[in-house]
Amino acid sequence: MAAKIKVATTSLAGCFGCHMSFLDIDERIIALAEIAEFDRSPLTDIKHCSDQVDIGLVEGGLCNAENVHTLREFRESCKILVAVGACAINGGIPAMRNHIPLQECLEESYLDAVGVENPQIPNDIELPLLLNKVHPIHEVVKVDYFLPGCPPSADVFWKFLTDLASGREPSLPYDLVHYD
Ligand code: SF4
Repeated sequence: MAAKIKVATTSLAGCFGCHMSFLDIDERIIALAEIAEFDRSPLTDIKHCSDQVDIGLVEGGLCNAENVHTLREFRESCKILVAVGACAINGGIPAMRNHIPLQECLEESYLDAVGVENPQIPNDIELPLLLNKVHPIHEVVKVDYFLPGCPPSADVFWKFLTDLASGREPSLPYDLVHYD
């Protein structure tokens, strides 16, 4: 029996919708478990890769210094790194703030918004430093594959992972990746 591929996932500045969509493979997760072993992931609650993994799936872009640190560490642990979804590929929804100066965003959220009580911009030293702009992950690390969508469908995850596990170059038919 062929060795199982090791898969890890992580979430940066995203909404977890890509992870939720992955779980929509439903009962196919049993077949997937026969060819793949899950390592670090919010799905397993394993916090760090145990060793080198074959495939690392990244949801979300980079909005703070902790995201950058996590991504660099994750890249080092993954033979193949995959940008999953619009946020990882181009910044997605969080990058909408890129058109507004960061200080203005903070003031609008924490000082001026309707219903704010005890207005103050959080500045605890424990909080990750916000980046001035939200960045896609390929601006910081090498990315091997991109899975488009917001989120990519469960069928996209299934096709992509089973192709790789079978030693095939992944190919996604047009009807899986068009959104018009
Ligand atoms: S691509 Fe869409 S579903 Fe995925 S993390 Fe971003 S907003 Fe959520």
